[in-house]
Amino acid sequence: MSNRVIVSVDVEDWYHGPTAAARFGTRNDVAQALGSVPQPERGLPYLDVALGLLAERNIRATFFWVAEYARRFPDALRRCAAAGHEIACHGLTHYPKFDPATKRPNFTPDEFKARTAEARKILQDLTGQPVTGYRAPNAYIAGWMLDALEDLGFAYDSSVSVNSIYNKTDEPQLDGVDSRPYFPTRGALRRGTVARGIVEFPWPFLAVGPVKIQSAGGPYLRFFGSGLVQAGLRQALRRGPAVFYFHPVDMCREAIPLPFSWKRPMMWWFKGDLVRRRIARVLDGLRGRTAAFDEVLQVGADKLCGGG
Ligand SMILES: [Zn+2]
Repeated sequence: MSNRVIVSVDVEDWYHGPTAAARFGTRNDVAQALGSVPQPERGLPYLDVALGLLAERNIRATFFWVAEYARRFPDALRRCAAAGHEIACHGLTHYPKFDPATKRPNFTPDEFKARTAEARKILQDLTGQPVTGYRAPNAYIAGWMLDALEDLGFAYDSSVSVNSIYNKTDEPQLDGVDSRPYFPTRGALRRGTVARGIVEFPWPFLAVGPVKIQSAGGPYLRFFGSGLVQAGLRQALRRGPAVFYFHPVDMCREAIPLPFSWKRPMMWWFKGDLVRRRIARVLDGLRGRTAAFDEVLQVGADKLCGGG
């Protein structure tokens, strides 16, 4: 199979995002902060917009669901599964491994393992399908998390972002990591030499001289447009499969509730129809060359990670 763009959708809502996720991980957290807003969700109607964009282009994707969100909206989760998409895990809630403001851990490795096992069970029970993929909330990933995922039987993770602008991992050196899938070193995110039970699919970047700019999508698509993402995907495809992702809530037209002090007031400057058109433009350029993670893994982890 020639190199494919792996299309992925992170299913969460505005209150899961980096501005809020350290404080809010559940609807109860949000309700507490907002006082009495019963329906703060903005993302759900746009999940169906996302499903439509994919269906119109005959694209099968991987949907990374926040399990607590799926538990509240099981029919929406089942619509994704019924449309033939792969269902994967985006955490029990959207709490990242540490509070970005204080850098204090949100949970221990054992707690992470228990929470992730619970999240997978929720998603599997609701869909009746196996869940073998993981993406870390806020892409805050660490080597010990990959070890835990491997112990739990996950086949892959897709959270590592090689990015010269800022490094979200706790490793200063991601030795040997570009955008190709790889077996990580145990306890670390570096590229290892030993085959193991978990594969990491790092995100693509656009290399401009020595500078690498994340170009997998998400906020980089919202802020910088489809040109950056398409150029980064083109570079990544020369190495191997390349990952693209977006959030349904990024397409929402309605105002985002702003009930608390924002550390990043620009976070939602770019959203709505503008972002929907950008997502559509990227998808249009990928026709016939896309896959979900589980399809790409069918060639076998050894083959996928061994090829240079
Ligand atoms: Zn997320």
